[in-house]
Amino acid sequence: MSLIVAVDIGGTHIRAAAYEPDSITPLFHQRSRSHATETGVFDRLVKTIESVWQSGKVDAIGIASPGPLDPHTGTILDTPNIPEWVNFPVGPRLSEHFGVPVYLDNDANMAGLAEWQYGAGKGHNDLVYLTISTGIGGGVISGGCLVQGFHGMGAELGHMIIDADGPLCGCGQRGHAESFSSGPAIARYAREQIKAGQKSSLEAQPKLSAAQVAEAASQGDPLAIAAFERAGFYLGIAVANYLAIFNPSILIFGGGVSQAGELLFEPFRDSLKKHVFHPHYLDELIIMRAALGDDAGLLGALALARLAPSQVKS
Ligand SMILES: [Zn+2]
Repeated sequence: MSLIVAVDIGGTHIRAAAYEPDSITPLFHQRSRSHATETGVFDRLVKTIESVWQSGKVDAIGIASPGPLDPHTGTILDTPNIPEWVNFPVGPRLSEHFGVPVYLDNDANMAGLAEWQYGAGKGHNDLVYLTISTGIGGGVISGGCLVQGFHGMGAELGHMIIDADGPLCGCGQRGHAESFSSGPAIARYAREQIKAGQKSSLEAQPKLSAAQVAEAASQGDPLAIAAFERAGFYLGIAVANYLAIFNPSILIFGGGVSQAGELLFEPFRDSLKKHVFHPHYLDELIIMRAALGDDAGLLGALALARLAPSQVKS
């Protein structure tokens, strides 16, 4: 039996699972708290992997991790989610410990890869995946290959500049897609408008989340609706740019903010139509929600390890 162990490193949990060839149902599965802000994350990672390890039967390890990271060297650069990992060679360290090849890429690329191999994007060669939640992450399949780039930092779609004078992004730059259309960006806009004197049912909320704005919008609150219209408008501009570069046959949306549905997608589609370079990009373009949910990172790590020797540069 030759198994692949897939690992998803999140801010709150580490998940590891062992898979038989051709299966996406794990043989063994372990989930543990990552306590990413505390030290000792690597030891907890090793323990979690050991709990699904079958000695002598594992061919490779695949990992989905928060970025930025360099998949070619298996090094985490400086992820804010795990402060103790700065230029940390997690791939080589694990490879040394377990004696098998380790393949690593960022969680959004891995979710895109998973949707391509096992989810909503099966059968497509040109796919753009976007996850919209506390940030915006992207993963791109172009011509049947995962886009990683020279340093493996490709497809940071959330940090495409939409307006150089726009709001501050979580990364410190201005006007990125994430600074307009992520969950915190939607909540921040609503808060700013209330501060500026706009009336809204959200005024009473001490701390505002995108989910609360979505709830208020579904009850007809005009400011909340406007906040999603704005997010959808800028998302349309961002996606018009992605279409011009990658010309995908399918766009897949994951992440909590996508759950807002038509509140976001109606203004998004209007804006995309308005801003796309040529209408032919939209012919037969499929726009749909992700199929794999919370398992996307894990399954992407599985796909990465399965494809790595043949298709993905490592
Ligand atoms: Zn940014």
